[in-house]
Amino acid sequence: MHSLSETDQICKPHVVCLPFPSQGHINPMLKLAILLHSKGFHITFVNTEFNHKRILKSRGPNSLDGFLDFHFETIPDGLLSSDEDAADATQDIPSLFDSIRKNFLAPFQTLLLKLNGYVNSTEFPPPVSCIIPDAFMSFAIAAAKEIGVPCVSFRTSSAVSFLGNKYLPALIQKGIIPLKDPTYLTNGHFDTTLDWIPTMKNVRLKDFSVFTRLTNTDDLMLNFVMEQAELASESSAIIFNTFDELEGNVLDALSTMSCPPLYAVGPLQSLINQLPENSLISIGANLWEEDFECLQWLRSKPPNSVVYVNFGSITVLTAQQLLEFAWGLANSKKNFLWIIRSDAIVGDRNITLPPEFVEETKERSFIARWCPQERVLNHPSIGAFLTHCGWNSMIESLASGVPMICWPFFADQHINCRFACIEWGVGLEIDASVNRDGLEKVVSEVIDGEKGMKMKNKAVEWKKKAEEAISAGGGSSYMNLDKLVHEVLLNKP
Ligand code: UDP
Repeated sequence: MHSLSETDQICKPHVVCLPFPSQGHINPMLKLAILLHSKGFHITFVNTEFNHKRILKSRGPNSLDGFLDFHFETIPDGLLSSDEDAADATQDIPSLFDSIRKNFLAPFQTLLLKLNGYVNSTEFPPPVSCIIPDAFMSFAIAAAKEIGVPCVSFRTSSAVSFLGNKYLPALIQKGIIPLKDPTYLTNGHFDTTLDWIPTMKNVRLKDFSVFTRLTNTDDLMLNFVMEQAELASESSAIIFNTFDELEGNVLDALSTMSCPPLYAVGPLQSLINQLPENSLISIGANLWEEDFECLQWLRSKPPNSVVYVNFGSITVLTAQQLLEFAWGLANSKKNFLWIIRSDAIVGDRNITLPPEFVEETKERSFIARWCPQERVLNHPSIGAFLTHCGWNSMIESLASGVPMICWPFFADQHINCRFACIEWGVGLEIDASVNRDGLEKVVSEVIDGEKGMKMKNKAVEWKKKAEEAISAGGGSSYMNLDKLVHEVLLNKP
């Protein structure tokens, strides 16, 4: 990778990275920050106080200290979430959206003043030269303008979900949202066709966005997402954790809309994997403590034999869904590694799996609270990933060549699922209301069946394409990252 010129090195550029405060946004932002650091940038990484404490708790009290030119700062999140129960639970997303609107700008401005207050000091950091907020943290655009530096949004989900969000106002205008009749979600209806939206040919209403299920348009999440999609487009550029070969047609469609330059620089982890060894590479930001024993367990299983089940950091299950998943997995007779967060079951933190299930599957299952997901996905024993279709999980799965069983839950996950199953040929969707017999059949099909074999081959093809995209010999993401640095991050606004 190209690094900075000598002049740039003398007055080191300083990027402030501001993730949305949830796991699926912190992880990719940290990866982007590590990559920019490797290109010679000074990095300030801003977590909320709440998440910073959790990371220190799960990774160790000094785990975020002592890196040269890379340091962490915090701002408050404005929520009252410091009670014992919340300490290992995902924060309520609508409350975070609300608080971001009301409470984040002032402390962020104060932080920028503090960072720039070192200007006349011989100590680091150098003055802030660019801000990279998550695309849900667009209040930072105003803060960047105030100090006269560029602001580059980082969209941590798929490009196709961003495109979908940009079209939400049009769906409202056409009367498609709010939903007139729940049967339109299952059977469709002539005036709910979405073929007029680029790249959405034959996409069903229920796949387009979780917001197509709404029966009114006052919803806080809907309005936040539409507002942020518009605001992100006012930034100097938008970065995506995807690659041109995967979502090029969507990125092309976006670039004809009122969007700033777009840079697809994923899969980020694959770019990091080719950096020379250094202590920052292993830095992590897990909010839960990882269970490494599962890697040992995976070593005892044959190649492509294990179903890895993980629904990310936000998805919750009802007690009945937990049972259906459990018996579906048990009845499939396959090996499985199942991650069940301590806060994963709605309304009951102490719920346990039935003793008969535990007894029956003890030779072929491993259950943990949280795991090192990318290492798991790269393990040769993994045959399939039963996922909620969070974008990080999907791109990590594609980069590892692992086919997916898809159970989308909310946010962008339905459209991610649709693209994985129909466009990219690597997924098989299970019913939203999950039942044990259906799951058993799909698991057997994906691990042993012909369809599963085709999906595996496709997933391996995508893995190869991802490897090409990050290749130093002219790969698209490799080049896009270089362009991003030279065309935007080192430029004055
Ligand atoms: N993750 C992990 N260990 C786990 C579960 C998840 O490291 O046991 C990581 C995963 O690799 C991904 C992120 O947490 O980077 C989850 O993001 P995703 O977009 O898949 O889902 P979200 O949590 O935002 O719903």
